[in-house]
Amino acid sequence: MEKIDLPDAEWRDRLTSEQYHVLREAGTERAFTGRYWDNHEDGDYVCAGCGAPLFGSDAKYDSGCGWPSFTKPAENLAVTEHRDLSHGMIRTEVRCAACEGHLGHVFPDGPGPEGLRFCINSASLDFQPDSGKDKG
Ligand code: FE
Repeated sequence: MEKIDLPDAEWRDRLTSEQYHVLREAGTERAFTGRYWDNHEDGDYVCAGCGAPLFGSDAKYDSGCGWPSFTKPAENLAVTEHRDLSHGMIRTEVRCAACEGHLGHVFPDGPGPEGLRFCINSASLDFQPDSGKDKG
């Protein structure tokens, strides 16, 4: 996996202020406000910072939490997990493995065989619908 390490000024240039806040400052968008929590189209969710494929619509489900929720990443190595003790909670932060951008958290209450809920900010993601792909 190619690592992407940019100076802070470059991230500020590339990202919207909301994307910067979430990806580079580990911010959280308010529930039910993001672009993708209620998106049901087929396609791929890639990192809004670096374009790395992170999640597929096949793993997306309605958790009711107000953020896009997935049972697993597109590939095991697409994301990294980090212990997060902020805000008086013990949580597991999820970051993009390529650019270290903050994505959200993973919780052990998911419906799939893995039992995981990847609770991800829309601001960290760009959606690429299958319908927009060249079917060749
Ligand atoms: Fe990334």
